[in-house]
Amino acid sequence: MSNGSIARVPIFAPMTIRRSASNTMSRKEKAAFAARKLADLYPRPSIPLHHQDPYTLLVAVVLSAQCTDKKVNEIAPLLFRKARTPGQMVKLRVDEIEDIIRPCGLAPAKAKGIHGLSEILLEKYDGEVPDSIMALEALPSVGHKTASVVMVQAFGVPAFPVDTHIHRLAWRWTLSNGRNVEHTEADLKKLFPREKWADLHLQMIYFGREYCPAKCHDPRKCPICSVIGRRAMFDRAKSNTAP
Ligand code: SF4
Repeated sequence: MSNGSIARVPIFAPMTIRRSASNTMSRKEKAAFAARKLADLYPRPSIPLHHQDPYTLLVAVVLSAQCTDKKVNEIAPLLFRKARTPGQMVKLRVDEIEDIIRPCGLAPAKAKGIHGLSEILLEKYDGEVPDSIMALEALPSVGHKTASVVMVQAFGVPAFPVDTHIHRLAWRWTLSNGRNVEHTEADLKKLFPREKWADLHLQMIYFGREYCPAKCHDPRKCPICSVIGRRAMFDRAKSNTAP
């Protein structure tokens, strides 16, 4: 994750606001509160995957499935040294692509997808990446989240790509009921103003990756959960600290 623009704020500093405030807050107010905190922490969130244009972003996002951004930023340039346009990519064999991207994991499927989507871009779109979510979703290896990332980060079209970090945080902050990522995306789009979606999806990813541990911890010390955190988290924390 790129930390270049991250404001270093002592996030686990003692809080003056207590979670009880959340009982009187509406979902909209909770969302506004979270947005303010995230803007303080990450005032200018940068796009974590390095890229030069929509095509290199699309390939980088495909590579990032179940892989860290750091690893993608190491490996993608090796691929782009050989091929950084769809025309150059289709001249590589699938197994050549696979050899280069192996450290990113899921290499056979990703290599096939990158080769296949490059062929379609050449055949149907003159070698350009289409700025249409439906056209993107029709490409191999490109699901709704990947298409949304490309729409918002390459074309500046408001979208709210929801990954596991965002999905989990939306549940913890009671902004969504956590049924599935589609539902979370719809809830967040309703709660946050359109013009903030681009920054907010990055800010939530950065926050989740940097501060939310996989194992249980004390949510009363978190500047966001301490105010709007879901009750179940506090019950769990209490029972973990019980003598
Ligand atoms: S309490 Fe923990 S899980 Fe909840 S937002 Fe804060 S750091 Fe993340």
